[in-house]
Amino acid sequence: MQLKIGIEVHGYIFVDAKLFCNCRIDAEASPNTTICPVCTSQPGSKPMLPNKDALDRIIAIAQFLGCSLNSRLLFQRKHYSWPDLPSGYQRTISGTYSSPVGVNGNFLGIGIEEVHLEEDPARWDPETGFVDYNRSGYPLVEIVTKPDFTSAEQVREWLKRLITTLGYIRAVNPDSGIKCDVNISISPDFSRVEVKNVNSLKSIVSAINYEAKRQEKLVSSGRRVELETRAWVEQLQETVFMRKKELAMDYMFIPEPDLPAIHVSERYAASIRKALPEKPHEKMERYIGKLRIDRADAEILSSEILLADLFERVAAKVNPVLAARWLRRELLRVLNYNKKELQDLEFDESHIIQLLRLVEQGRITDEVGKKILEKLADKPFDVEAYVKDEGLLVLSDVSELERLCDEAVNSNRKAVSDYMKGEEKALNFIVGQVIARTKGRADPRKVREIILSRVALHK
Ligand SMILES: [Zn+2]
Repeated sequence: MQLKIGIEVHGYIFVDAKLFCNCRIDAEASPNTTICPVCTSQPGSKPMLPNKDALDRIIAIAQFLGCSLNSRLLFQRKHYSWPDLPSGYQRTISGTYSSPVGVNGNFLGIGIEEVHLEEDPARWDPETGFVDYNRSGYPLVEIVTKPDFTSAEQVREWLKRLITTLGYIRAVNPDSGIKCDVNISISPDFSRVEVKNVNSLKSIVSAINYEAKRQEKLVSSGRRVELETRAWVEQLQETVFMRKKELAMDYMFIPEPDLPAIHVSERYAASIRKALPEKPHEKMERYIGKLRIDRADAEILSSEILLADLFERVAAKVNPVLAARWLRRELLRVLNYNKKELQDLEFDESHIIQLLRLVEQGRITDEVGKKILEKLADKPFDVEAYVKDEGLLVLSDVSELERLCDEAVNSNRKAVSDYMKGEEKALNFIVGQVIARTKGRADPRKVREIILSRVALHK
């Protein structure tokens, strides 16, 4: 039996204002503070023309996912009665009479059926009956795939990449989460079960695996898999029956009379297409193939556009492998430690290039370089001048190094004898003593060499 999975994923489009009014988008706002007559559907209120930024983003998404665009977009009213929808209908570029924004795309080998734009309903709490309208009118992208997935793990990996990619072009806010409906089938004719509202990558995997098992059990006991809609219940880790497909909701789609059709000209589409960056996985492959970067480094560097841009500017001036290692390990460590984002940093690539050139030429040790990077995160400064003023150049005086190593060997007799008994760590300890004495200015490989030659004399 072949498992086939298709998904419909919703993400929040990265814009400042709602789709049909000027209310701001702010996930932190207290309930019902970013609202107006339009997004709460007061009697007599009319939508404003759709948010231009949201349209730009949706056209960008459709093209980034390789879709062909429709040149005439029409909003529809999708009717249903639910407490989160005061007007009784949702405005969407989908449904019976619509032409979606984009069709027939492909992302990482998975077919994209369609991409469209719609507004989010409010947030209703069924326990208390409380409705928060802040979210009402947020622009959403819906991406519908073909049933091309064959495992839950594949869906998870693909979705992760999709979110990264759409975050990358600043089209979708990756921090706002996603909502997913999953279609799962094990029969050859794709008679499928739809599982509604699965809202995290982890739940998506659990829901698919649960549903595949449930359907297999039905089939092996000689029963049919019914076409139906089910809901994923997080607490039970199960899908439960919602409705039969024959009783599928009739949404009574009608064209939205308050909004004009939107014409997407080739010129408009092309201007957005031209501004789109290289896709993250294309970047990653280029880093690995052309720049010889380690796969793990390349994957992280290419996953965030600011980081990738910085890396490329630095790698143009210093050895790309060295740049990749320092940006991925050291820069990200410093950012993490200071709880800062890349865009918060005051220093730029010129500082990192100065620093890495010194490391590349062996004029400072890695140890000193790391400390300088930490200092740069506080406040930028001229790295060359700082190294000279503070006397941080690598300790190249061999007799001085030998003297320090002799001292370390003589005052750490226990470590020496531990090392002779086969304890590798004891040697690192002695090397560490010398490095500490020189405040990191000694080259650890040289120190190790000298100490080994001295220890050999003790044998
Ligand atoms: Zn509003």
